[in-house]
Amino acid sequence: CGIVAFNGKENAEERILQGLEKLEYRGYDSAGIAMIDHGLLKVTKAAGRLDALEEKLRAHPLVGHNGIGHTRWATHGVPSEMNAHPHVSSDHKVAVVHNGIIENFQAIKNRLMEEGFTFYSETDTEVVANLIASKLHGDLKSAVEEATKELRGTFSLAVLSSDDPETLIVTRRESPLILGIADDGIFAASDIPALLAYTRDVIYLDNDDLVVIEKGNYTIYNHGEVIDKEVKTVEWSME
Ligand code: GLU
Repeated sequence: CGIVAFNGKENAEERILQGLEKLEYRGYDSAGIAMIDHGLLKVTKAAGRLDALEEKLRAHPLVGHNGIGHTRWATHGVPSEMNAHPHVSSDHKVAVVHNGIIENFQAIKNRLMEEGFTFYSETDTEVVANLIASKLHGDLKSAVEEATKELRGTFSLAVLSSDDPETLIVTRRESPLILGIADDGIFAASDIPALLAYTRDVIYLDNDDLVVIEKGNYTIYNHGEVIDKEVKTVEWSME
């Protein structure tokens, strides 16, 4: 339902949580966040209101500059902490948040189980995390590119990996995703209100755009080609 991701100079946890709060009006049943914290991939999630997630994070804060967050509106699998995003691959190397529906998830899941990957949730999204992990033999960008070629359906995705700790990858097909260009880093979000506290400079991503965000810089690819996209200024405010 809602995606917020950040890669930059400042603390990602605070920025992601503030963004998710701004997307609460869309409705959700659970929420979660994943960050690279001192080189390790860490995930915190909670069923119910964002307050429940925030309470957990107050007790055990995540520290880092690269993270992804999500509010879920369940389509596959009951609302629960287990089914909340981010979803993590069974080798613990890849974390994914996803809006949309992966139509061919069952076929991919069956194949990945034969390859030795295991699953803990009922979601279509967990398949994406394991599919990317199955293709991770170097850089995260190639793995995400290869994985999305096999996906059918609708998705916006934000992806982190402990194998590529400085990198955030986002991509979309038939589900909205925008970049926010701020002084202290790059945001990705499913909707503009998540960004307005930090920037009004946005890039609207098109189908199959794949963005590599590293150390506050971004490069946009489409089918392997680097593309230039216009930065637009959002004129409206939330007040
Ligand atoms: N299909 C995914 C799920 O059920 C994503 C739902 C969403 O867009 O929030 O977990």
